Amino acid sequence: MTELLSNYLGGTWQRGSGAGTALFDPVLGNELVRVDATGLDLAAGFAFAREQGGAALRALTYRQRAALLGEVVKVLQANRDAYYDIATANSGTVRNDSAVDIDGGIFTLGTYARLGDTLGDRHHLPDGEAARLGKDPLFQSQHVLVPTRGVALFINAFNFPAWGLWEKAAPALLAGVPVIVKPATATAWLTQRMVRDVVEAGILPAGALSVVCGSAAGMLDALQPFDVVSFTGSADTAAVIRSHPAIARRSVRVNIEADSINAAVLLPQDGADSAAFDLLAKEVVREMTVKSGQKCTAIRRVFVPEALYARATEAIGARLSKVTVGNPRHDTVRMGALVSRAQFDAVQAGLDGLRRHAQVLHDGSRQPLVDADPAVACCIGPTLLGVTDADAAGTVHDTEVFGPVATLLPYRDTAHALALVRRGQGSLVASLYGSDAAALGAAALELADSHGRVHVISPDVAQLHTGHGNVMPQSLHGGPGRAGGGEELGGLRALHFYHRRCAIQASTAVLGTLA
Ligand code: NAP
Repeated sequence: MTELLSNYLGGTWQRGSGAGTALFDPVLGNELVRVDATGLDLAAGFAFAREQGGAALRALTYRQRAALLGEVVKVLQANRDAYYDIATANSGTVRNDSAVDIDGGIFTLGTYARLGDTLGDRHHLPDGEAARLGKDPLFQSQHVLVPTRGVALFINAFNFPAWGLWEKAAPALLAGVPVIVKPATATAWLTQRMVRDVVEAGILPAGALSVVCGSAAGMLDALQPFDVVSFTGSADTAAVIRSHPAIARRSVRVNIEADSINAAVLLPQDGADSAAFDLLAKEVVREMTVKSGQKCTAIRRVFVPEALYARATEAIGARLSKVTVGNPRHDTVRMGALVSRAQFDAVQAGLDGLRRHAQVLHDGSRQPLVDADPAVACCIGPTLLGVTDADAAGTVHDTEVFGPVATLLPYRDTAHALALVRRGQGSLVASLYGSDAAALGAAALELADSHGRVHVISPDVAQLHTGHGNVMPQSLHGGPGRAGGGEELGGLRALHFYHRRCAIQASTAVLGTLA
């Protein structure tokens, strides 16, 4: 039997009373560890976090909490090697892809440590200027933001066990709100190990950071009105969470990050020999292959002018044919595995579904694997599909295959391209490629209402831009409609989710004491 990982709740390490669910190496197929949350006293654990963790965090100022984040960064840096080993074993990722998760998470924490320091030694934040409520300026209204006195429950997806924890925990802890994380079962090990290292280092007050691995059963029932939930995962699970009585009746605040049919568009001003065309081909291939396409922000639809469809097929296909797939421990392998057999099967099924409506332009699904047994390893090569009638391609605009799969689509003019992008019904990110600044700016604004982020790549920023799918802590992450309607990150904007806004109406003398 493999090790049963402990949960950390109520200030103590505790094992579930069940046999546990096994986590596997998706390349070698062996069992790694088990997780279980059966029998935990969730109500008591949540109360401990709320009362002890919350009170201790709120007793600190923003600057002091920012300093704690800085200490957490040091602990995580010191244990990076162990995290990479776990990612290789449990996520099947090559080193560069593990870095997106692990170093991306540490970078995000570090960013919030720096941002938090600028908030100073305060216990609440002013929200705007005071406004007079009548003719006499003596009586005014000042809005303030104060940390919510509840817990922040994170229910996370399998693809970012490290970043997914810290991109949420950094703003929550900085805001003074204790965190309980429930990682996705398939990759819970890395999240659990990071929490273990931070807890053992004794940096955070008791109850400030807890981890429950295993089923989410009963967790939403333990929520109280001032708690908040931040969920990342599928639209189906999001719908279950939204309709839970804690959210529907107790007004527990919820943030949903769900799936998204993200797009990349080459604007019509640039031809097949342009730098913008090359930048598009390069970025599409990067997005299809980083983490084997298991990124919520990955490019799923690629739009090019009709006249460039064949050239784009060639350019993207040529780059994809150089991608080696297999055991991430092998030096020549560029793309590792999907995270589990279940995901492998889901990607195959999704591909089969899309293939019924699209042509295969580059077939990676039967690509030979390097140093991996195709009967065991959850590895699949990248596949580019194509549809020549983009208007009729309903399934393509509506299906997220969570793997190394994208579809190329031709458009007639800019208005047509942008209308097709919007058929994604709200996405996390779209990227635009071109050299005409005015056309790029206009297109970005046209897409702004249906996207959390628009990433514009022009030749002048070819070496500088941060990548279509890379979520930077300075920028908003989330998207309207189908993407879940959530908002995360965006610098200090992320703190709003963990604060309550209140208007204090009083004399200017009283308001003057609120500093
Ligand atoms: P999922 O099946 O919805 O699972 C997400 C989380 O919800 C897991 O921790 C899961 O736990 C938990 N869960 C499952 N059923 C639940 C229930 N009834 N009540 C409460 N929690 C429940 O999603 P996934 O397959 O892990 O993630 C892939 C999806 O996430 C993709 O569609 C992707 O686009 C999306 N995603 C979005 C973002 C974003 O930021 N927008 C980022 C990453 C991924 P168990 O693992 O224990 O079942």
